[in-house]
Amino acid sequence: ACLAAAGPRTVLLAAPRSFCAGVERAIEIVERVLADRGAPVYVRKQIVHNRHVVHGLERRGAVFVDELDGVPDGATVVFSAHGVSPAVRAEAARRRLDVIDATCPLVTKVHAEARRFAARGDTVVLVGHDGHEEVEGTLGEAPSRTVLVQNAEEATRLEVPDPQRVSYLTQTTLAVDETAEVVDALRARFPALRGPVSDDICYATTNRQRALAAIARESDLVLVVGSANSSNSARLVELAQRHGTRAHLIDDAGDVEPSWLAGAGVVGVTAGASAPPKLVDDVLTALGGLGPVTVAERELTTETVHFALPPSVTGR
Ligand code: SF4
Repeated sequence: ACLAAAGPRTVLLAAPRSFCAGVERAIEIVERVLADRGAPVYVRKQIVHNRHVVHGLERRGAVFVDELDGVPDGATVVFSAHGVSPAVRAEAARRRLDVIDATCPLVTKVHAEARRFAARGDTVVLVGHDGHEEVEGTLGEAPSRTVLVQNAEEATRLEVPDPQRVSYLTQTTLAVDETAEVVDALRARFPALRGPVSDDICYATTNRQRALAAIARESDLVLVVGSANSSNSARLVELAQRHGTRAHLIDDAGDVEPSWLAGAGVVGVTAGASAPPKLVDDVLTALGGLGPVTVAERELTTETVHFALPPSVTGR
């Protein structure tokens, strides 16, 4: 069938989308350290969960390592936006590494809560995904007092030493609606449950989900720009699917399959918090190459959040 037969395709561009303040800060930290100290600059784990960002920094001299044993003694190492456990900090100090911390301040906030809740004698229930780097870091704050819960079913079955003393925390990049169900299940089981003063799911995750929810039903197809290991990007794909809309996670325009567009008169486009805006522009260009398109941006809210760089990077 002729893809253009039904007239111009509409692209609904969700806003906010793409980079958040924590990701921008983390990338700028690595760029500044590369400029000031020269290559190589070691980075523990992917600085942010995006292939294009990581490859771009690699080309400029960043060396990504899985663990600190990949970093020579005395070298500079950047910790990724997802945060690290105290054990990793202690190991870096023992190795006399020069640490520059790119942990997002909103992840640091969750770590502080974990310490506070554990210190008052609570069992800390961390709602999150097993194996995610942020979860590993947060769990490490009070490993003997923290339990990971991944869904409402696990919450319902959870046993704790003292049901009167239970607090919860969450990963910053979860689905807002699903997390509310897990917390409800925890509260049903432990009525004395206490939580953080303000949500742990960050503003950027929340805003990207709301912006996509506003266009998901109108769209015949949703394209989410982001890498497979990006938690908030994966949640956007699932959110579109829960609204009954076909959705695909794409690393870049090259991943767009022309067959997806058959019968898709309205295409929703968004990007996870770790995906560069340039990749979204490329997707719009690629869609334009497949037939006439009209792009309509649907801006739900404007983001003005900005995080200062650490003094070790600005020299102040
Ligand atoms: Fe920070 Fe949220 Fe961005 Fe993660 S997604 S880096 S928590 S602002």
